[in-house]
Amino acid sequence: VTFYPADYPVDWKDIVRQINDQAGNKCKFCGVANGAVGARDRDGSWHDEHEMDGMSAVTGDHFFEGEFPRIIMIVLTTAHLCHDKMCRDPGHIFALCQRCHLSHDRRHHLEVQARNRRRRIIERGQLPLTGVTP
Ligand SMILES: [Zn+2]
Repeated sequence: VTFYPADYPVDWKDIVRQINDQAGNKCKFCGVANGAVGARDRDGSWHDEHEMDGMSAVTGDHFFEGEFPRIIMIVLTTAHLCHDKMCRDPGHIFALCQRCHLSHDRRHHLEVQARNRRRRIIERGQLPLTGVTP
């Protein structure tokens, strides 16, 4: 995700700080804390790194996605639930971890794709039939 400051409100940094404070510096969707170090299991549940202490590679490969141990750090991002980057409504802006942000964006992307597909089909339906001369 590339951040272009010009796409956002001028006081975006203040908004981000306020949103993160309100969220208790945790992801609004999955509740994992900013800066947490650990891994996601195959169901997407979060486990702090100490939970993997003493876990064998066989067990780890079974429960965790990717190559075990695939330790990551949670970095909170700030997502517009309305997908309007210029929106300043705190009710539309959530602190989300990378994973929740990506899945939120992916869902939106699929919705846009489906909408465009429907529109193309409608537009195609309005085109005159080819090979028919009036
Ligand atoms: Zn999350």
